[in-house]
Amino acid sequence: MSLFRFLLVLANSIALSYAQIQAPNAPYPLTDPVKKLCQNVNSKFAEYKWGDVGCENFNWNHVRNSNLGTPLIWTVFGDENSLTAKENVTLVMCGVHGDEITPVKFCWDLINELKSNHTFHNKLIVVAPLVAPDSFLISKPTRTNGRGVDVNRNFPTADWKAEAHKRWKHHLNSDKRKFPGPRGASEQETIFQMNLILRYKPNKVISVHAPLSMLDYDGPSLRADAGKDAKILLEQMSTKASGYKVSNYPIFPGSLGNWAGKEKHIPTYTLELPNSNPQETEKFWSLFKEAVVFAFNHKMQPTID
Ligand SMILES: [Zn+2]
Repeated sequence: MSLFRFLLVLANSIALSYAQIQAPNAPYPLTDPVKKLCQNVNSKFAEYKWGDVGCENFNWNHVRNSNLGTPLIWTVFGDENSLTAKENVTLVMCGVHGDEITPVKFCWDLINELKSNHTFHNKLIVVAPLVAPDSFLISKPTRTNGRGVDVNRNFPTADWKAEAHKRWKHHLNSDKRKFPGPRGASEQETIFQMNLILRYKPNKVISVHAPLSMLDYDGPSLRADAGKDAKILLEQMSTKASGYKVSNYPIFPGSLGNWAGKEKHIPTYTLELPNSNPQETEKFWSLFKEAVVFAFNHKMQPTID
């Protein structure tokens, strides 16, 4: 082989390995904080006998930490720069309440499904599988985050100042599990969710909780024209999950349904799984898989600019 040909072959093989490193589906290298988070997720999952969920194999975005310094992560499926993909954006969030164990695995089942079995033409799916990691990763998971705040009562809704503490004291007897925080949006996990919504402008949000066994909707009135697509999705999600119960659960000062659904007019679906039993996660994933895949493909009108 001539020297010239040798150099050509060498240059080609370097270019090829570079292309493999840069392959679009290959995960970015993990930063140290995310690597550590993944190790903690892996050991928690091992404790629940959930097997290897491949936390380190996803492209994690990480901008902000919880107040205790734990990364708040999300991953995106689809092309963020495609204008048509931006017209059909679904945001899915799990692990808002750490003692609701099954929703966390639900999001991991979801991202593993998306990673292996789907293409993403004309749609974007944003998944934050562990919104409040400090409440899930400790030995005895809690509803409240690492600072004792119920993240789903902490959104800065219009009624927060006047109502959040009043309701908490009088209706809930100051139940520590539902403390709304010292002020609206005092918690990093709340700001994290708000920023995902402001950044990606989803035309639907699915937040997964347990154990109330129902599908709840907040957003534009389902009776009005603006709620037409939202109504179809609500009905289809229920039908595709063997007629899962649809319930109109009340909103609360500081809840996601109040902030995103009522105030920002984004159709917001709270999927309450039947229970928090870690051994039943497979059953829940197979029950709702078709419903969430339908949601991803169901294009809806954009609601915020
Ligand atoms: Zn919950």
